[in-house]
Amino acid sequence: MSDCLFCKIIDGSIPSTKIYEDEYVYAFMDIMPLTKGHTLLIPKEHVKNVYEMSEETAANLFKVAPRIANAIKDSFQPAGMNLLNNCEEAAGQSVFHFHLHFIPRYDETDGFK
Ligand code: 5GP
Ligand code: ZN
Repeated sequence: MSDCLFCKIIDGSIPSTKIYEDEYVYAFMDIMPLTKGHTLLIPKEHVKNVYEMSEETAANLFKVAPRIANAIKDSFQPAGMNLLNNCEEAAGQSVFHFHLHFIPRYDETDGFK
């Protein structure tokens, strides 16, 4: 989708720090990290949110979630991690291309509630 920020990140017209990529998904560092190592995992197919996602796209995306989580764990050594998706504006979605947040957690002072 030509006016989608995350589609532009996938096609490289907007730069990003890549964590992982395969035929179906792309993972990259969040530009305004809520905590150190905050990463986003997105399908390459433009899908607005979970309501519009096919089972096949969901399978391709969630299949790599353990790999992404472990890469973040190994790199940043957090005490824990939140996996989060905001679906629709009312829930805080600001970019309308599905993304799964990986938010590493350190201690009570890491700034994320
Ligand atoms: P949402 O609020 O839709 O759940 O999350 C959107 C996320 O995308 C936010 O955490 C925000 O910081 C991130 N984001 C917005 N624009 C950019 C960008 O241009 N590059 C990167 N890497 N992340 C972005
Ligand atoms: Zn898109």
